Amino acid sequence: MIPAVLPTYNRAPLTFVRGEGAWLIEADGRRFLDLGAGIAVNALGHAHPALVEALTEQAGRLWHVSNLYRIEEQEALARRLVDATFADTVFFTNSGTEAAELAIKMVRKHWSARGDGDRIEILAFEGAFHGRSTGAIAAAGGDKLTKGYGPLMPGFRQLPFGDHEALKAALTDRTAAVMVEPVQGEGGIRPLPDACLKGLRAACDATGALLVLDEVQCGMGRTGRLFAHEWAGISPDIMMVAKGIGGGFPLGAVLATEAAAAAMTAGSHGSTYGGNPLACAVGLQVMDIVADEEFLAGVRRRAGLLRQRLEGLVAVHPEVFEAVRGQGLMLGLKCRKPNAEVVTAGHAEGVLTVAGGDNVIRLLPPLVLSEEEIAEGVARLDRAARRLAPAAV
Ligand SMILES: *Cc1c(COP(=O)(O)O)cnc(C)c1O
Repeated sequence: MIPAVLPTYNRAPLTFVRGEGAWLIEADGRRFLDLGAGIAVNALGHAHPALVEALTEQAGRLWHVSNLYRIEEQEALARRLVDATFADTVFFTNSGTEAAELAIKMVRKHWSARGDGDRIEILAFEGAFHGRSTGAIAAAGGDKLTKGYGPLMPGFRQLPFGDHEALKAALTDRTAAVMVEPVQGEGGIRPLPDACLKGLRAACDATGALLVLDEVQCGMGRTGRLFAHEWAGISPDIMMVAKGIGGGFPLGAVLATEAAAAAMTAGSHGSTYGGNPLACAVGLQVMDIVADEEFLAGVRRRAGLLRQRLEGLVAVHPEVFEAVRGQGLMLGLKCRKPNAEVVTAGHAEGVLTVAGGDNVIRLLPPLVLSEEEIAEGVARLDRAARRLAPAAV
């Protein structure tokens, strides 16, 4: 008999009833160090006092009004994002998928408004993930996401990751846009080197194609800069954001330049909940904390420490781990054992990680993870690895 909850997830037999910072706690009091953070969502950990206060204060005042009216919290958060980034304008959504949908629509509208409605091809990359809507799965492609859901929305082409020749051949003055994650998340923490992102920007400039960055997972301080593309010193035309921006409250956004967004006029897009007062009150607090150079410097410092410790872990467990990769607090451990087994062994030792593509386990801890918690997390991962293979030293 089908379960009451549609069984689209292989769930671990863990049930958390409470969260405190980087820790999740079961009803019997068992504590787990959360190095997954709801897949890069709980950027400030669980039950951060400033977020709890922002949410409860807003909840006592006003939950929801339609986007038919002005929403102060939404305007304030849009202003903060515009001031802190390349963007001139922001549309709020409830999720990354909805941000992907709008990004695709914005690209199409852009060319249609310029009298070039046939210019629809969006280039994406193998191993990408942009969400689960029909548009987002068509964009990312791949059997795992699309099988059985055809016919897929036309206009997308996936290029092999890191294949410069294929990109050069595909990117022409008929290309509408290139959509890419600066660091692939679901694909197994695969960073696009800065030089590639720079080259991509230049190639888009040469053909007029729009550069659309998906920073749903790698954005909001995750890599040690507010947004990952800042490392390469370039900026996109359109950017999708979600996950960390709400710190656990459902919130996403599309950020865009005025030129890319110019065709999006009244009536061209909308959302009932997108940018509602509750979400934006929380988002404002997240921005206040994360978009701060001192905070980001702390993320980079602690990320360096975590990476160093993980390199040590790989050296001690060559039968379990192959390499560390990623940037900032978006790290992947490429495994030699099946990654699902490593994740499960972690559960037995009270540490949570997330499986990803390419046999990687992902570490996407709260950005507030302390040095003590880094040491504790690596110790637990070490014990988990010992469950799978005796250590070399
Ligand atoms: C999670 C994710 C999405 C989809 O976001 P949802 O909020 O799950 O809809 C899109 N792109 C990337 C890179 C993601 O990691």
